[in-house]
Amino acid sequence: MYLSPACASGRVLVVFIVSVWALGRTTEPVHAQVSARSVGATPVPSCGMARSLAEGHWAQPLAPPDTAYLEALADTDVLHYSLDVEVSNLDHIDNTCLLVGRNTMTIQSKSVALDEFSFRLCDIYSIAGAHVNETIPVAVTTTSETTRVVTLDRTYALDESFTLTIEYSGNTIPAIGPFWSGGLQVDAQPDDTPVAATRSQPYFAYSWWPVKEGDVAAPGDNSDKATLEISVTVPDPLIVASNGLLQSVDALPGDRTAYRWASNYAVIPSLVCFAATEFNTWTATYTHPGGSMPVEFFIYPAWDTAENRAAWEKSVIMLDTFAGMFGEYPFVDEKYGIYNFPWYGLEHQTMTGQGPIGDYTGFEESLSAHELAHQWWGDSVTCKTWNHIWLNESFATYADALWEEFKPGGGGLPALQAIMRDRKIPPFYPLDGSVYVYDEELGNPTDIFDPNTTYYKGSWILHMLRHMLGDGDFFDALRAYRAAFEFQAATTEDFQAVCESFYGGELDWFFQQWVYEEGSPIYDWGWDSVEVNGRHYVLLSIDQVQDESFVRFTMPIDVVVDGDTYVAFNDAAPQHFVIPVPSAPVSVEFDPDEWIHGFVNPDPVYHPGPPKIVETFPAPGEALSAEAVGTVFTITFHTTVDVDGADISLSGVETGPVSFVIAADTDVNPLVLNLSEPLAPDAYTLTIGANGVVAVNSGLALDGEIGNPNAPASLPSGDGVPGGDALIAFTVLGDPVPTTSVWGLVALMLLILVAGTVLATRRFQRQ
Ligand SMILES: [Zn+2]
Repeated sequence: MYLSPACASGRVLVVFIVSVWALGRTTEPVHAQVSARSVGATPVPSCGMARSLAEGHWAQPLAPPDTAYLEALADTDVLHYSLDVEVSNLDHIDNTCLLVGRNTMTIQSKSVALDEFSFRLCDIYSIAGAHVNETIPVAVTTTSETTRVVTLDRTYALDESFTLTIEYSGNTIPAIGPFWSGGLQVDAQPDDTPVAATRSQPYFAYSWWPVKEGDVAAPGDNSDKATLEISVTVPDPLIVASNGLLQSVDALPGDRTAYRWASNYAVIPSLVCFAATEFNTWTATYTHPGGSMPVEFFIYPAWDTAENRAAWEKSVIMLDTFAGMFGEYPFVDEKYGIYNFPWYGLEHQTMTGQGPIGDYTGFEESLSAHELAHQWWGDSVTCKTWNHIWLNESFATYADALWEEFKPGGGGLPALQAIMRDRKIPPFYPLDGSVYVYDEELGNPTDIFDPNTTYYKGSWILHMLRHMLGDGDFFDALRAYRAAFEFQAATTEDFQAVCESFYGGELDWFFQQWVYEEGSPIYDWGWDSVEVNGRHYVLLSIDQVQDESFVRFTMPIDVVVDGDTYVAFNDAAPQHFVIPVPSAPVSVEFDPDEWIHGFVNPDPVYHPGPPKIVETFPAPGEALSAEAVGTVFTITFHTTVDVDGADISLSGVETGPVSFVIAADTDVNPLVLNLSEPLAPDAYTLTIGANGVVAVNSGLALDGEIGNPNAPASLPSGDGVPGGDALIAFTVLGDPVPTTSVWGLVALMLLILVAGTVLATRRFQRQ
């Protein structure tokens, strides 16, 4: 398999390559392994989740999941949440408030006999009432700190729907333990104005409202999305920002106001949000081909400066830029918004929270780009389980680099490449850990939102895919993936399947290594050149010397020779390539544009490899008269070889084996075969056994595979590693041998007998 990436200059040339899956291949690293791990300052992604974690705002690993859910998540489909909460007694000193709420869930049975429904609600809240279809009281059993189970009034059949209303209340607790990372946080603006704001990712919605979600430390299932009404009542003069569109603002007795928001776009529970405080607000307009959409901003008065407003308003341009890249903004019939909250960034659906943390203000352009991109990647298309969180985070991380490339006046590809270079964290500290989050890591959100893997290495996976597919197919693949899973949830395998349809072949070799395995390649490489029969070749050796505990990666690698780009499909380590070039090479560069999340030895040293066939006479696929073929055959290698003639044979389809004499068998190039007489018209195959040819300089056996024995373009031979017989097919033109003739048959049988005796004798002699 080979690939030919898009190249604007049109100067891409392609080198073979027979692709061999080399995952299990053992190697002898050239260099001593380096195991030291630097733990220096680690850059932190734009995303608020990762940055907050890096700033130490996550408490501790969480308890393993309980098994309190009696029915499977797939046994029900929540169609709609109608949530009505009131917050009061906001105490930003003790970080608590009184929360009184009622959630009516419209639930469809996906079981043939559903008689129970489990939901999450933290046991700090007491339940005042539970009713099916508004009027039928039902019992609620608290089964764990996180989970309650309702015994339904009757059994519900497949696809039957009902509503379940839960009324609850309690004082929220300060943000400690899991509540630091999720829940209803009571804090204050710089001027001490209280703020009540939620953040629930990944599985903390239960800490402030009754909800169906996967348990803490469990994979969850984000495929159950529901439409939403959310009404939040607050003491005056607080106002409320939330998902969707504002439906009404209702003044209530006691200096209270209810803000009623709603969204017709289904949302996962952890992306439902509200923030209640004193905001200054303004609205911009995003104009798109189908009309226009409000972009609403809720800013703390103390931070309401022209500079901060301008920073957030860039999201209007970002909407246009990302729509061009990924397809129209997913929630274009409602809104996009940004509001201040006491956390760095969270991509709540249609309403992103942004705020200061550490030295960061919450108004950074990269943060705004990252969180907006999440509306496509994370909100509209959501990772199906938290194992696949990279489908949210690395997409948003790559998107904020794409913004720097494609924004009006942006820096183009060099700007993106500079960002990606900074995200290719130097060896060797960050190479541990896979991009995929395995179940045992789900108990610690720090592992789910690991900057090095979930964000940076994941974004590099997209960067590498982009180069492998070419820009056109890469962005088409992103749009196709979005279209296939819009308003749904997806897995790594789903994304892989879409990419494969654009790549034109399976990509297991890529996804398995980069998503599920750990590490990155460290390339040791070198080059030399040779001229053979007036033709020039670059000799390239590639090895991978990363820690032995990591896999050897399969990657197509750009090799630029005097400005021309060749692609070496590196699927073994060590591996050797012989690349025909138009003139004596002066400069050879290895992945010069850094398209691979790997590291390259800056001091290349060439290590000689196995011999490869660069020319033959007759050439593969050649059809000549007997006179033109003659009686002298040549096999030309890129380097001098020693030959064992017993491993070389010539045979016609009709005429059978042909005898010949080797002119010389040591230190030769080319190898010359002298036939005793001209060949009869027939189709012939010349076979050069790998074991019969050894390079003088490396001592390695022939790398002989010829992809198509009938095509001259199949040379040079080989898949990059020693071994593999070379088969060269050619035809001698003329009238075929009259095999029906008795004399012909007799001659053929005699020939086979003689040849068999010769071969048997040689085999015996070699023992
Ligand atoms: Zn993010």
